[in-house]
Amino acid sequence: MAVEDAVARPGEGKTEAERQLTLHVGLVCVVAAVAVAFSVRQLVHLDLSGDDLTLSLTLVFMAALGVRINWRIRIRATVHAISWSETAIVLGLAVAPAPLVVLTTGVGVATALLSMKPSPLKTAFGVAKSTLLAAGAGVTLHALGWSETADLRHAIGMVGLAYAVAVVLDEVLTLPVIALATGTQVRRLFRDDLGLRLTSALARFVLIAVTLVILRGDNRLLLAVPPLVLSLHLLYSNQVKARTEQQAWQRLARTTDALNVVDLDEVLSTAVTQAGELFSADEVEIELRDGGRTVRGAGGTIGYDGPAGEPSTIDGSVLPVRLEGHDGSADVGVLRLRFRGPVQLSEREQYTLRTFASALCTAVRNAQAYAELARVAAEHAHAATHDALTGLANRRQLMERGTEQLSTRHAEGVTALVLIDLNHFKEVNDTLGHAAGDQVLMQVADRLRAVAQAEDLVARLGGDEFAVLLRGLPAPAVAAHRAEALIGALHQPLDVDGMRISVEASGGIAVAPASGGMPELLRRADVAMYQAKRAGQRVSTYAPTRDTADLGRLTLGGELPRAVADHEFTVNFQPIVDLASGEVTGAEALARWHHPTHGMIDPLRFLEAVERSGLLPAFAEAILDQALLAAVTWRAAGFDLPVSVNVSPRSLLDARFPGAVLARLRAHDLPPDRLVLELTETLTLSQLDVVDRVLSRLRDSGVRLALDDFGTGYSSLSLLSRIPVHELKIDRSFVTAMESSAEAAAVIRSTLDLGRSLDLTVVAEGVESEPQRRALWELGCAAGQGHLFARPLPSGSLLAALQRGSGGRPGTLVPPLHDTGAVIRLAPGRRQPGRSRPTGLPHLPA
Ligand code: C2E
Ligand code: CA
Ligand code: CA
Repeated sequence: MAVEDAVARPGEGKTEAERQLTLHVGLVCVVAAVAVAFSVRQLVHLDLSGDDLTLSLTLVFMAALGVRINWRIRIRATVHAISWSETAIVLGLAVAPAPLVVLTTGVGVATALLSMKPSPLKTAFGVAKSTLLAAGAGVTLHALGWSETADLRHAIGMVGLAYAVAVVLDEVLTLPVIALATGTQVRRLFRDDLGLRLTSALARFVLIAVTLVILRGDNRLLLAVPPLVLSLHLLYSNQVKARTEQQAWQRLARTTDALNVVDLDEVLSTAVTQAGELFSADEVEIELRDGGRTVRGAGGTIGYDGPAGEPSTIDGSVLPVRLEGHDGSADVGVLRLRFRGPVQLSEREQYTLRTFASALCTAVRNAQAYAELARVAAEHAHAATHDALTGLANRRQLMERGTEQLSTRHAEGVTALVLIDLNHFKEVNDTLGHAAGDQVLMQVADRLRAVAQAEDLVARLGGDEFAVLLRGLPAPAVAAHRAEALIGALHQPLDVDGMRISVEASGGIAVAPASGGMPELLRRADVAMYQAKRAGQRVSTYAPTRDTADLGRLTLGGELPRAVADHEFTVNFQPIVDLASGEVTGAEALARWHHPTHGMIDPLRFLEAVERSGLLPAFAEAILDQALLAAVTWRAAGFDLPVSVNVSPRSLLDARFPGAVLARLRAHDLPPDRLVLELTETLTLSQLDVVDRVLSRLRDSGVRLALDDFGTGYSSLSLLSRIPVHELKIDRSFVTAMESSAEAAAVIRSTLDLGRSLDLTVVAEGVESEPQRRALWELGCAAGQGHLFARPLPSGSLLAALQRGSGGRPGTLVPPLHDTGAVIRLAPGRRQPGRSRPTGLPHLPA
C-alpha cells in the first residue's frame, strides 16, 4: 500500500498532525537505514558472480515494477494505491539472499518513485517502508530455516508466512500515515475496504505459490514472472473495478431509496450522511434555495443546520452541484462536497453525483410539497375548530371537547359551562364600525383567556357570545365563583383606538346534566344567561324550575318568522292608574305570543330571540299597530288614554324607526302625544349619535318618552341629562322591597325628588297591595301600575272594565285612597293631560 497526495499544504504552519506524520516517517526511515546497513555488512562477505548481477538487476526491476503497477482507491482527498511491492519482495526472497533483496528493493522502489515525482517525504517513506518489509519478510524466512532446496510444500508454507508478515507490516506502517494525513481514525481506515485488501492479498499469495512452482524448474524463469504479473494484474484490476462499480451502484440505489421519505429533515440528514460515504467527502453541505436553509455534516453526523452564510471549517477543494431535475428544471438548491485536498472525481463518480443530485432534488421537492400539504391541512383543521378573529375555539370545537369530556366515564370533578354575552356589542359595531367591534372582541377574548385556568376551554360561539367550558371543578358551587371572575374581567373599560369602551356582559352557568350531553348543557347555560340578562344580574345559574325546555328550542328554531307572518304576536294592556283616585290615566302595551301549540308565551321568553333575529322591525311595528288601534278604539268610546309601548334598544339604532312610528300614528289619525315610548335605561351607549337623532326626531314630533325600569341601571342620572324624557317608571323591584328595605325606599324617594325637579311624571310599577299604594302616594308618587289595579288585559276587556268602572265611576278601577274631599287635587300636569300630579307631599287627613 502506498500513500499519494498526502496533505502538504504550502505556506501554512505545521499542524500537530503534520508534526506527528514527519516523526512517524522519520522513525521508519531510521529503522530502515539500520536494516540497510546490516544488509550491506552481510553482503560484503558474499562473493557475487556475474549471474548474481543479472539476478540483482532482475530484482531491482521487479521492485520498481511492483510500485508502478497498482490500482488506486480514493479515500476523501487521499488516493491509496494498492501495489505489488510485497509480491516482488517475497518472490525475490525465494530466489536470492535476503540482504540482497533488501538492497535491491530499496533501489528499485526509489527508482520507480523518483520517476513518479511524489513529495520527498512520501518518497522517503515509500523507500524506507519497502526496505523494512523486505527485511521483515527476510528475517521471517531465516527464522523458519529457509533453504531453496526445501520441498515444495514446505517452501510455499514458509514463503506464505513471510508474505503475511510483509502484508501486516505494510498495514502497521501505512495506516497511521493515512490516518494522520486525512484526519481519519486508524480503526475506520482498517475496516474500510478490508475485504478488498484481504482478497487481493490472497490472490497474490496464489500467484506467489504458482511462481514458486515455476521457479523449481529454472531460476531464470523468474524473468517470465513480470509479464505474468502484468496480465494477472490487468485481469484482476478489471474484476476489482467491475466489483467496485457494482457496489457503488448498489450504494447509490440504496441511497436514493433512503431519500424517498416525506420528512424534509430526514431527507436532508440522509442526503448529507449518504453523500459523505458515497463520494468519500470530508464534508457535505446542502443549501436550499427556498429559505436558504443550510445543512452540513461530516463522518455520518450533522454538524450544522441553520441559515446560509455560516462558513465551513474545512478549506480545501469544493465540488458544487446544482440540485435540479434531469431536464434542468426546478432548481431547489446546491449540494457541495468539500475535501481537504484537491480532488478529481472519476467519470463514474461524476455520473453518480449527477444522479444523486437529481434524486435529492426530487426528494426535496416532494418533501417540501408534502410539508406544504401538511401545513395547509393543519391550517384547515385549525380553521375548522377555531375562531379566525380571536383564535379561540369555535362552537364546533366546544361541542366536540365538551362531548368528549361528558362522555369520559371517570372524568374527575364537575364539568360546567359558562355562557357569556356582551350587552351592547351591536351598538359598538353599528356606530364605531366593525374594526372597533373586532378589537373589542379580541380584547374580550384576551381577558377571558387570561382569567381562564389551564383546564378551561374558552370559545367564541359567534357574534358577541363566548363560552367557557370548566373542567374538573371540585364542586358545582365553584362554577359560579369562576363565572364571576370571568365576567368581572370584562368590567374594566376596554381601550379601542384611545376610546374607553365599557362592555358589560351577562353570564349563564349550567352544570353538566345527567343526560342530553353537550347540546343540553349549552341550552341550559343559554337559558341561565337569558335569565341573568332579563333580571339585570351579571351572572345567573341555571335553575330547572325556571326553565321551559320547549321554549328554548322554539325560539331558537325557525318559528319566529311564521309567528310574525301569522300575527301570532298580540298585545295586552295594563292600565296606569292615578294612585289617589283610582282613575285610569293610561295603559301600557305588553306583547304576548299566542303559540298554536304552546299557548300563551310571555315576552321575557321570546324577546331576546326576536331582537337577535332580523325580525325586530316587523315585530315592533305589529305591536305598535295594535297598541295604536286600541288607543283609537278607547278614544272613540270616550276614554282618551295615552298608550305606552315598550321599545327595544336596538330599534333606537335604526334611523328609520322614527319615520315608521310617525307613519303609524298618521295612519291611525292619532295625535303623537297619545303615544308614550318606554325606553330601557340599560342602553348605556345612549350618547351615540344615531340614538340621539332617533329620540330627538320622535320628541320633536310630539311623541312622549318614558324611562322604564328606572333605578336598576348604573348610569340613570347621566342618561337623564342626555335624553330629555317626560316620564320615569320606578322599577317593580323597589316597590316590592320598599316596605322592608330602607335602601329601596330611598331610591323611590330620590326618584320622586328628581321627577319633581325636572318636572317629570313618575309611575311606580308592580303595585300589588293597598299598603304599597298608600306608601307610594304618601311619598308623593301620583301614578302606579300593577296587579292591585289590573293585570294586563286584552284591549276589549280593558275597555269593558273602564266602562264598568269601580263603584259606578267609569274610568276607575279601584276606589279612591281617601275621601275625594280630603285629597288635594292639583291641576293636571302640562305634559300629561288626563293624569293628576301632586307637586308636593299631600296633606293627609288628621
Ligand atoms: P316592563 O316594561 O317592566 O313591563 C312590566 C312587566 O311587569 C310586565 O311583564 C307586567 O305584566 C309585569 N307586571 C305588571 N304589574 C305587575 C305586578 O303587580 N306584579 C308583578 N309581579 N308583575 C307585574 P311582562 O308583560 O311579562 O313584560 C315583561 C317585559 O317585557 C316588560 O317589562 C318589557 O320590558 C318587555 N316587553 C313587553 N312587551 C314588549 C314589547 O312590545 N316590546 C318590547 N320591546 N318589550 C316588551
Ligand atoms: Ca315597560
Ligand atoms: Ca318596567
